[in-house]
Amino acid sequence: FVEISGLKKSFGTLDVLKGIDVTVNRGDVVCIIGPSGSGKSTLLRCVNLLEEPNGGKIVVNGVELTDPDVDIDKARTKIGMVFQSFNLFSHLSVLNNLTVAQRKVLKRGEKEAQQVALRNLERVGLKEKANAMPAQLSGGQQQRVAIARALSMDPEVMLFDEPTSALDPELVGDVLGVMRQLADEGMTMLVVTHEMQFAREVADKVIFMDGGYIVEEGPAAEVIGNPQEERTRTFLRRVL
Ligand code: ATP
Ligand code: MG
Repeated sequence: FVEISGLKKSFGTLDVLKGIDVTVNRGDVVCIIGPSGSGKSTLLRCVNLLEEPNGGKIVVNGVELTDPDVDIDKARTKIGMVFQSFNLFSHLSVLNNLTVAQRKVLKRGEKEAQQVALRNLERVGLKEKANAMPAQLSGGQQQRVAIARALSMDPEVMLFDEPTSALDPELVGDVLGVMRQLADEGMTMLVVTHEMQFAREVADKVIFMDGGYIVEEGPAAEVIGNPQEERTRTFLRRVL
């Protein structure tokens, strides 16, 4: 469903992705782990075309994003992304955060956009916060709003870049709970995370990246539970 092959990305002389191959089947959750600077965020940003790859191919649901003739704006609406920093529009209410892109990009009418927004707020357990401003919410609630906002665009794939790293420990569980529910509902997800417990329980596949390469990949029980590569073991000793 998501096919990444031979993906390369450099910034000037710095080679950050050196030939990455990833396949995500429809409905699967793939977790990406690895040390700081290994290229995890760059990989997700390439999939969302926030960065332009220097080589390789990315295909999402049959559409080749790396084809120069592809309609990037249209393709991007199918790919939801949630960042470590929630990036809500601080001057807009929760509801308007969820309706603005639906109206501008998908050209939905106000009423339909609001219905979709409320349905997705309900999914993340925050329907009663529709009229609140982002600053009135906890970090965990803001992140769940960010997830609901991404879902309101009806994405085919959701990308998460360390969605819980900026949260107080007691708020992490709610966000992971929403992600777990999405996974159960069959959403195709690519998740960069340091939450090894989540990866173990939810991921269909875990990828360990280091230095711009995939060093090891496989079922969570193998990559996290019984890593074969020394670099994976060293990393896991530090984070577990
Ligand atoms: P972390 O765990 O700290 O988030 P990461 O695995 O997500 O790390 P990336 O953010 O993908 O790592 O960065 C990989 C490398 O690319 C780093 O050396 C970083 O400094 C560099 N890099 C990322 N974005 C840019 C950019 N826009 N311009 C120049 N260098 C960049
Ligand atoms: Mg990162």
